[in-house]
Amino acid sequence: SSPAANKSNNKKGNDDDKITKRIEDYSQWYSDVIKHGSLAQSSPTRGSMIIKPWGMSIWQFLQRDLDSRISDQGVENAYFPLLIPKSFLSKEAEHVDGFAKECAVVTHHRLKDVGGELVPDPEAELEEPLIIRPTSETIIWSTFSTWISSHRDLPLKINQWANVMRWELRTRPFLRTSEFLWQEGHTAYADEKGAHDDARTMVGVYNNFVEDMLAMPTIVGVKSPSERFAGAVETYTIEGIMQNGWALQTGTSHYLGQSFGKAFGVTFQGKEGGVKPVYGSSWGVTTRMIGAMIMTHSDDSGLVLPPTIAPKQVVVVPIPAKKNDEEGKEKLEKALEELVKGLEGEGLRVQVDDRDWVRNGAKYFEWERKGVPLRIELGPRDVGNDVCVLKWRTWKPDKESVPLSSVASQVKLQMGEYQSHLLETAKERMASQINLEAGYEEMRDTLSKDEAGQYPGAGLYLVPWKCNAENEKKIKEECKATIRCYPVDVNEMKMFEGKKCFYSGEDADKMALFGRAF
Ligand code: AMP
Repeated sequence: SSPAANKSNNKKGNDDDKITKRIEDYSQWYSDVIKHGSLAQSSPTRGSMIIKPWGMSIWQFLQRDLDSRISDQGVENAYFPLLIPKSFLSKEAEHVDGFAKECAVVTHHRLKDVGGELVPDPEAELEEPLIIRPTSETIIWSTFSTWISSHRDLPLKINQWANVMRWELRTRPFLRTSEFLWQEGHTAYADEKGAHDDARTMVGVYNNFVEDMLAMPTIVGVKSPSERFAGAVETYTIEGIMQNGWALQTGTSHYLGQSFGKAFGVTFQGKEGGVKPVYGSSWGVTTRMIGAMIMTHSDDSGLVLPPTIAPKQVVVVPIPAKKNDEEGKEKLEKALEELVKGLEGEGLRVQVDDRDWVRNGAKYFEWERKGVPLRIELGPRDVGNDVCVLKWRTWKPDKESVPLSSVASQVKLQMGEYQSHLLETAKERMASQINLEAGYEEMRDTLSKDEAGQYPGAGLYLVPWKCNAENEKKIKEECKATIRCYPVDVNEMKMFEGKKCFYSGEDADKMALFGRAF
């Protein structure tokens, strides 16, 4: 494996090497897991992180899988420029309001040496400044105006994989960085229903995707108007609940109505004649998903990776035979080779850690922190008994001795069970974190005690609600809780009917999920 991935070789128990316990400081725990899990590190560029090979590999598993799900929806990939003319952003009023405050702006195309210092050359000032894309609706919709003229051109469904930049003031690796990686889907339809259904379909695709790939349950819901995407008519979300009881908006899908169609003059000739602006949707998920995964499964010993996205699913640690035991050495090598061949034959991603300069204990420690689902130990005595020893990262506390003849098929089977176990555990935790019967005072008092999202937190509150932006604002001021979403399932069931709003006492018209959020 690469030197960058294997650099750390520290002993257990070093103070600067320790992972803070969740109960002591959840936020520090999160940073420690990222550091010792070799996922990412901070960079000299403010607010932007360096994603290390172990972290990038996880992103690429997510990317490959999601790309095929997006393609299954009849969406094609394309690529649009990083830099967007400033005037484009101003074309949709709500959109510019939402994004202007976090835009990085390019104003010059050359530097000049003035007394040994490099400064932007005044003679190279751009006539029109360029914005580093915070999202690409504007440039994509201006392009759509050249691609769409007839109902025959619709629907048009485009996706791009890219980096974007939002000048975030408070950043945290993966969860909120200034530059992040994502995919952004943009569609145009002839009718309202087509575009709105598209937005709903994609939030469902995201929900299934994070459940299958990250073993992470989420709540599908609608955002309240104050939490909507700038320029959207409706925003759908998948909200995750993290171990500390805070919510995390893990992905969003927007129904845009005709706002961008009108703003960018994207019109089409209908079947029955007449020219109309098109309807649109957009949807995206980002590197934030890796943060969501960390705070769903990891523990006080470090990262816990679902097998679906683990760069290595099995690490095999051979325990060397005694120095002059040539026969033992040979037998071990042969058994190791067959073991790896068997595991790889089952389609498993296997790493052999035969570094002779690292102690066994340190190896176990390192792979544990990197979240590898299964460790297999193979020593001369095991080989003599035709067995090897399995130790799962979580799930089963004890080591287990398994015959070499059947280990590959057993591991393959158990890898699936391990994945299901992670999902079930996360589902049970999530269900236990949603408070159903609480009144407003109870929520306020509990949440105000939960300073800084300390583990284990107070959780979320599913309550009857009468929609009112003023009251929503007051609640945010009083207990920092926001409406994470109006969950789709309980609202379709009209669970609010006959109930009074938990804040105003008026007849409720929604079930709302309140809570603190990252
Ligand atoms: P949006 O285009 O604003 O709907 O963003 C799409 C998704 O990106 C959101 O649902 C978040 O999950 C995620 N996201 C937003 N801001 C950031 C950020 N600064 N860093 C990482 N992910 C982000």
